[in-house]
Amino acid sequence: MTLSAQAVPMLSDNYAWLLRDEATGVTAFVDPADADACAAAVEAAGGRLDMVLLTHHHGDHVAGTDAVRARYGCPVVGAAADARRLPRLDRAVAEGDTVAVGDSSLRVIDTPGHTVGHIAFFGGGNHVLICGDTLFSLGCGRLLEGSAADMYGSLRKLAALPGDTLVCCGHEYTESNARFALHADPDNPALRARAAAVGRLREAAQPTIPSRLSDELAENPFLRAPDVAALAKLRAEKDTFR
Ligand code: ZN
Ligand code: FE
Repeated sequence: MTLSAQAVPMLSDNYAWLLRDEATGVTAFVDPADADACAAAVEAAGGRLDMVLLTHHHGDHVAGTDAVRARYGCPVVGAAADARRLPRLDRAVAEGDTVAVGDSSLRVIDTPGHTVGHIAFFGGGNHVLICGDTLFSLGCGRLLEGSAADMYGSLRKLAALPGDTLVCCGHEYTESNARFALHADPDNPALRARAAAVGRLREAAQPTIPSRLSDELAENPFLRAPDVAALAKLRAEKDTFR
């Protein structure tokens, strides 16, 4: 079951995602921060929206949720653990639950660290990972609520997914992440090649997302951190890196 995933730019550097199950045409919209931008993408793709999925409670991911529900009458799915501070949920989910998007099935993965109630969605025969602000291309989310141990555990879960997984993250941060990654791991030839390719994409105003999990495993210093202490050190260094 192929689940197409279209990046929809929102706000200054966010990506929302329009998912479409190719077999049935059923769609889901992930993280509708801007209801007008969400509606424009949905209308351009045929005007059908069947559900909204939320990764975490931050406004740059959820602010347009109630307006999108009012327009399309579609249910909103988000983390049970964070139901009190998310927009009203029609379905509250937790680790191991599945969300059907037509014939495609998405598995919910708890990914605390950036926030304590953050979740990711993984599924589709083509292996789509919606990971919000947990794993970024060549980076990871800031530890705004959770601990380094939380983030380490979350990244380990994502690292165990199939290598061909498409990493659909919540921000276009790759170019600045690449600068820090090269600083942290200067002798990694795959990373050097990737950083150059990312620079060319951004110069052409092209998205660098989605990336492939196998590439992240080879190039992303946060995913390559051997233990919690190493991840904590990297994350603290990145927080003040210019
Ligand atoms: Zn966030
Ligand atoms: Fe964000």
